[in-house]
Amino acid sequence: MSELPLRAQLAAALGKGAASLSRATGRGDGSVIGGRIALKVEPDLLSKLARGRRLTLVSATNGKTTTTRLIASALRQLGEIATNEHGANMPTGHITALSNRPNARNGVLETDEKYLPQVLRETAPAVVVLMNLSRDQMDRASEINLLAKKWRDALAMSDTHVIANADDPLVAWAGLGARNATWVSAGQRWKEDSWCCPECGGHLKRDPDPHWECPECGLRRPDTTWAVNNATDTVTDPNGQEFRLQLHLPGDANRANGVIALATAAAYGIHPEQALPRLREIESVAGRYTSIVTSGVEVRLLLSKNPAGWLESFAVLDPPRVPVILSVNAQIPDGKDTSWLWDVDYTVLRGRRVFVMGERRTDLALRLETDEVPFEVVDRVDQVIGRLKSEQPDITKIDVIANYTAFQQIRTAYGRVQ
Ligand SMILES: [Zn+2]
Repeated sequence: MSELPLRAQLAAALGKGAASLSRATGRGDGSVIGGRIALKVEPDLLSKLARGRRLTLVSATNGKTTTTRLIASALRQLGEIATNEHGANMPTGHITALSNRPNARNGVLETDEKYLPQVLRETAPAVVVLMNLSRDQMDRASEINLLAKKWRDALAMSDTHVIANADDPLVAWAGLGARNATWVSAGQRWKEDSWCCPECGGHLKRDPDPHWECPECGLRRPDTTWAVNNATDTVTDPNGQEFRLQLHLPGDANRANGVIALATAAAYGIHPEQALPRLREIESVAGRYTSIVTSGVEVRLLLSKNPAGWLESFAVLDPPRVPVILSVNAQIPDGKDTSWLWDVDYTVLRGRRVFVMGERRTDLALRLETDEVPFEVVDRVDQVIGRLKSEQPDITKIDVIANYTAFQQIRTAYGRVQ
């Protein structure tokens, strides 16, 4: 911090003051307000705070908070890390993360997809990590194509090293704009937003998975040096060496996050043998995958904000005998329009006890009826537990899939567990 010009030091100090005040008055962790005040005093603050550090920016539609956390954990091998672990992923949050750790030489910043080009210009990161791009809430496919184009253009103007998922055509096309890239085969489960070639609009040939190519213009999946194997729970590194992942975080989506984190750690000179024990320490990220125990029943919380996210959550559900609660709200952070619920295939829930709640429970109910999935409409988690316990006293587990504010409401009701 002492190398910062006086004005930038003042801006950072003011920002921190505002953040502590915000925390003290119970208005959240203060990342946003602190950064906002600091930016007023020094508009160039983010560039100044980033100077002289080796930063990684992490962007994607899904999994960026978790992957940021995994990478930060691996990089702690090198000493102090600056990171926005509370998920404030716009420039104001980045300013707070960097000014809170003035002496951290290395940093990992989760970055909102739309802000990536700007943050890339301002922070000149050593590494940019790109994982997946799909419709978030009500974005349209044309909007994510435009976003990929902006990523591609911004990367072409920078010297950064890209670490990207080659299996996602939009992400790969954006990453191909960069001069240096490490390609990772991290898989792609949600393919509905990437049937068309990002370069020419041609229909992509996607066989055998994960290969893809465009018969029209010849754009094809880049050759990869890192790969995840979901069936064996292993990762292969560029030397062909295999490592067991054994993460605590569940499912293929987290295996994808894990291989990306290992490739990023390797770019900082950290071997997978050193990084893996640190990745395995993480059991929950901002309450996701946490289990709450209430009335002797373990309630596991899964956050899913968009169609691709719901598909990932279905993939990590417990065996069919474990009931599931689906909860959907439609507040501003969720998006008011929840018609994306119709893009998800619910037939995998057949044969399972399903409860629906949240502000959009009737929409969910209609959707499930269309997919011929029996369901019960409820208001609260404890109501479900009460009903289940009266019918089945030995019930021990329930899964909950919820979108953003529905998820936060449940966390708050049970005391905001980490
Ligand atoms: Zn093409």
